[in-house]
Amino acid sequence: MKPLISSLLGPLLALSAVGCGPHRVHVVEPKPVNPSVAIVGATLWDGTGGAPVPNAVTLVRDDRILCAGAAGECLIPRGARIIEAQGHYLIPGLIDSHVHLLFPTNGSAGEELALDLRDLLAQGVTTVRDMGTNPAELLARVGALPASPRVYAMQLVAGRRFFFNGFRATATARGAVLRQAPAVTMQWLGWTPMQFNPGDNPDQIVAAAREAGAMGLKLYAQLDSGSVRQLVAAAHRAGMPVWGHAWVQPTSVREQATAGQDGVVHSAGLAGELFTVEERDTLVKDGDLQTVTAQVATAAAAHDPRILAALDTMVRLGTMFEPTLDAVQHSVASFEAKRRHIPSLQENYARAASAFGMEVTREAVRRGVRISAGSDHVAYGPTRDRASVFGEMRLLIDSIGLSPTAALLAATRDAARAIGGEPGRQIGTIQAGHYADLVLLSKNPLENIDNLDAVEWVMRGGHVWRPGQLRSGIAMR
Ligand SMILES: [Zn+2]
Repeated sequence: MKPLISSLLGPLLALSAVGCGPHRVHVVEPKPVNPSVAIVGATLWDGTGGAPVPNAVTLVRDDRILCAGAAGECLIPRGARIIEAQGHYLIPGLIDSHVHLLFPTNGSAGEELALDLRDLLAQGVTTVRDMGTNPAELLARVGALPASPRVYAMQLVAGRRFFFNGFRATATARGAVLRQAPAVTMQWLGWTPMQFNPGDNPDQIVAAAREAGAMGLKLYAQLDSGSVRQLVAAAHRAGMPVWGHAWVQPTSVREQATAGQDGVVHSAGLAGELFTVEERDTLVKDGDLQTVTAQVATAAAAHDPRILAALDTMVRLGTMFEPTLDAVQHSVASFEAKRRHIPSLQENYARAASAFGMEVTREAVRRGVRISAGSDHVAYGPTRDRASVFGEMRLLIDSIGLSPTAALLAATRDAARAIGGEPGRQIGTIQAGHYADLVLLSKNPLENIDNLDAVEWVMRGGHVWRPGQLRSGIAMR
């Protein structure tokens, strides 16, 4: 190296010296030499929806993909570093479009957050979207970590009742119980919901969300349809996507879709379509919601014309859907693990949400709703309680009937579309100009989705890790 640098610098130094007199020498730095990386010989599944390409060449320079295709389509530049990948499978980095990372009260804001993110990366997850959180705090913490997927955060927005339903007494079998406003519980978690009321300026909420580092809005609860329309319009003016719980009482999913909302989460929430506007407006507390959902959300109810109308509106307007099936299965499993007991309201709700949510998701897929494989993963607690994008893909295949290819698209191309905005346009598929977020597998995931286990290495923005360098075991499947 040394002779090369001297030979480059020599003439430059001499020229500078000539131009500026004997006492002022300008040192001109040589341009950094960034050889491309060529991944050669792998079967390439680029996530665009096309067939796999055998014996492919994928070129990466810095943090971007330069070219990806059949041998001969991408000329390997001289000096490129070659990674031999014959017999292997190259896929886009996976995206979990629904996670919850920040829970300071549960201790996951520090070491556990770092370990969770390293484990996700080791599993081939190169991007996550946080759907709860305090965006500014989460992004600052993630920014300090040496190894992590890309993390994008949404800003929670809810209506006045979510913040001020007062400390009120509710009669229960065990006597009167004092309940606080849900926003207070959420703030104790460390999250920062923003309040929007009819008459407020939606552009101010959007500006505050952007200022906090959020890339979009997540509508959480207690918003009427006029508020939803205003918030969606304001966010879209700023180039930001809007997602929300499937019905933000009193607004129904059909109204959310009609307002132009980009996506809805939680298949069990489609039960909201079965209520009248007046009923939706009176369901304020979580307990009330769970009680009525457990009553109406049967598998047969998933075929109710009102739900089908909401799904068809979503298809027509391109509204995406994150069913979050794995999280519900984890919840049901935790009740099943208990000894014989009298089912609680939460258990009845979880069981109804499972059967109904599965059937709604089958209807959604049958009718052509675009699915994103967001999992509702949480970054704390025992491993067995953590939903994952792998569990979500497994259920989409086994219970909903998707092919492994369709399930993978829901965790790559379509999850990128779900994330939306500028970030969503640069991830999810292996295409020139996109971030070099790649996973090399020793087995074919299109034959069996469990082969996603066989990670040789993960590349995020051109930087390669082997799983053994990252794993702590905390968030392993
Ligand atoms: Zn969630």
